[in-house]
Amino acid sequence: MDSIFDYMAKYDYENLFFCQDKALDFRAVIAIHDTTLGPATGGCRMWNQYAGELEAVEDALRLARGMTYKYAAAGVNLGGGKAVIIGDPRRMDREPVFRALGKFINRLGGRYITGEDVGTTLSDMEYIRMETEYVVTLPTYLGGAGDIAPMTALGTLRAMQACCKRVYGSDRLENKRIAVQGLGAVGHNVVEQLHAAGAQIVATDIDPAKAADMASRYGIEQVEPEAIYDVECDIFCPCALGKVINDETLDRLKCKIICGSANNQLAEERHGELLEQKGMIYAPDYITNAGGTIYDTDRLSVGGVSHERGRAKVSRIYENMGRVFEIADRDQIPTYLAADRMAEERIRQIAEVNKYVD
Ligand code: NAD
Repeated sequence: MDSIFDYMAKYDYENLFFCQDKALDFRAVIAIHDTTLGPATGGCRMWNQYAGELEAVEDALRLARGMTYKYAAAGVNLGGGKAVIIGDPRRMDREPVFRALGKFINRLGGRYITGEDVGTTLSDMEYIRMETEYVVTLPTYLGGAGDIAPMTALGTLRAMQACCKRVYGSDRLENKRIAVQGLGAVGHNVVEQLHAAGAQIVATDIDPAKAADMASRYGIEQVEPEAIYDVECDIFCPCALGKVINDETLDRLKCKIICGSANNQLAEERHGELLEQKGMIYAPDYITNAGGTIYDTDRLSVGGVSHERGRAKVSRIYENMGRVFEIADRDQIPTYLAADRMAEERIRQIAEVNKYVD
């Protein structure tokens, strides 16, 4: 990025806020992409491995835009935003840092709502909550939804079911062979839920203890981390890192469906086209992994956490995935583009609705 304003104009951003406090050694940016659907919402990242300030600003802007699409496609009435604190994520003096951010967020009067992201924790959110109500991802004792990973996993399974319906004509996961990469917060819940659904699971993690634990609990088959790409299966389910669909892995994958929770699964957009040419179906990551945030933010729209209502909303990822397929067929485009189109169409339509003032 050479010019902040040119970049903002290119993707039509609304605002960018710079926050600093010299005595606290605190620097942060808050990016707001689009608030057509509701207040800009998205987590707070704490990171210091940036080549320079501009890279941090670009990260905040790019992530904020990603949240606009995620909420729009999920049918949630929130816009896209993101905060980046430029600092060491292992920094020990967390209270002043996160309370300072809370103060700045509060000044925005609800135009931006923050949450947890890379480098920040639930206890950091508690510090923010001391200064502002505009924060999600809170523990249950503070009125939040608590651990959202099981709901991210549920959303991933609902997307898998929609993909199975398209490929096999039935959305049953029973006896489907599914290769799960990564057994962390989301991955281990995916395995647990797939096991309950009667799927055959092959799994891996770079931490052998996690794989061994899943094997002893659910009798799943384990493979070495590198071997997961070669597993013959119905569904490859990436729940670890980004960029796992790349030139090297594309020729190795032997699955019909790629559907997992990991962010940024395609190394480059062209890989979304290449895998369709190879006859595989790709469930766009921001559709499949929206379950956690759908559940987490549900209380903002109605008030109070309701497990039943939150779960029902997460379940709709099945229908969202179906709509992505409809648009892909209608416009003859790959699924990753169809998801973007679905999000853009909803924003355009609601902008039209918003013209009517009560
Ligand atoms: P996590 O850190 O708890 O788990 C990731 C797991 O992947 C770890 O167990 C790690 O050892 C393993 N791993 C890393 N590299 C690997 C490799 N090369 N091969 C096999 N295993 C490897 O993270 P998480 O919260 O479970 O998130 C997983 C993915 O889902 C991430 O991409 C994250 O951005 C995305 N995501 C998570 C949530 C959520 O609710 N936690 C929501 C949306 C998206």
